[in-house]
Amino acid sequence: MNPIVIIGSGLAGWTLVRELRKSNKDAPVVLISADAGDFYSKPMLSNALAQNKTAAQLVTTPAATMAEQQGITLMARTRVEAIDRERKVLTTSAGEQPYSALALALGADPIRLPLGGDAAGAVLSVNDLDDYARFRDAIAGKRRIAVIGAGLIGCEFANDLAAAGYVINVYDPTAHPLSSLLPEAAGRSLLSPLAALGVAWHFGRSVRAVDRAGEGFRLTLDDGTLHEVDAVLSAVGLRPRTLLAKEAGLDVNRGIVTDEYLRTSDAAIYALGDCAETQGAVRPYVLPIMHSARALARTLAGEATAVVFPPMPVMVKTPACPATVVPVARDAVGSWEIIEHESGVKATFSSADGKLLGFALTGKLAEERMALAKLLAG
Ligand code: FAD
Repeated sequence: MNPIVIIGSGLAGWTLVRELRKSNKDAPVVLISADAGDFYSKPMLSNALAQNKTAAQLVTTPAATMAEQQGITLMARTRVEAIDRERKVLTTSAGEQPYSALALALGADPIRLPLGGDAAGAVLSVNDLDDYARFRDAIAGKRRIAVIGAGLIGCEFANDLAAAGYVINVYDPTAHPLSSLLPEAAGRSLLSPLAALGVAWHFGRSVRAVDRAGEGFRLTLDDGTLHEVDAVLSAVGLRPRTLLAKEAGLDVNRGIVTDEYLRTSDAAIYALGDCAETQGAVRPYVLPIMHSARALARTLAGEATAVVFPPMPVMVKTPACPATVVPVARDAVGSWEIIEHESGVKATFSSADGKLLGFALTGKLAEERMALAKLLAG
């Protein structure tokens, strides 16, 4: 029998393998990955510089050990180039690979801003272990780092880099940190604690160009201001990897479209993790991946199981001012209630009839997350 094939060795791919093995020790499983396949916690990438960790130290289980423990065939450093849905065969950089069922766990690509300047290509982003190793090399012995983007990943890197002793400038065209996740008052509560660590914020400003200047770089902002820095990190968001699915004729919207069974528009192909758009939403976080992998493993074992997502708080790892948020659905109707304390901000979003639909907590008040999450679930 042809194997179940999983493409991608991130949290989604490896968690699916582990979940599959809980119910079936023997089914043939092949995992194909463009990277080395080592198991690591991606959220650590934006928390590891202050701890002076190398990329190798972030690997919790090497790829070969994972494959052996789970009894699967791993094709590492192998890229899947095409899916032949009729023959149920993949074209890979190592030849053809047939499948009985296919799970796409392809992750997402960092969005690249259309920057001008002769050093736009030297702007770095960090979305996997290889990127982290490159970034760590690039900033070794340097001092001034520009972070483009004040979203979750930009703020986490700004905090981590500042704690590691770097001088940080953060640029964002919006008005406050974490603007797509937090209401303004909650976002603003990150400003002073991070500034006290050495973060200079530049809101309402975009970077237009990056040019070489001696050993470092010169940024040109949209108001013409020039800033000299030693390295530039872009953290302006991620875009689900959909090309492979699109070229195979699968339904693709923002992500690879699936139903509640994680099934794409082809009944033998599933998608989960950062590449997937399940029931109308892309959920690029750890908890949705765990729920998806559990449900999909059952479905692949023959017991069709719909994924159910409970309220899933996202923790923003900015130790200078921690934040927890349960994002409000894009189409939610209601209003924010904001309570500002010296120790942080509590923002709750409720419908007209008083039902809690989401919340954001910062600073000391982040400790209230469990109580609010219970209210949401009820
Ligand atoms: P990935 O880990 O990106 O894996 C994708 C895999 O697909 C890779 O192995 C890649 O090589 C492979 N691949 C892609 N295309 C091909 C191809 N054509 N052929 C073969 N292989 C291919 N979430 C939280 O909940 N909490 C946090 O605190 C948090 N912090 C984060 C901090 C950072 C810096 C980042 C970047 C993300 C963070 N996230 C956090 C998000 C979370 O880490 C991701 O949602 C999750 O790790 C995504 O896992 P994935 O398996 O879907 O994708």
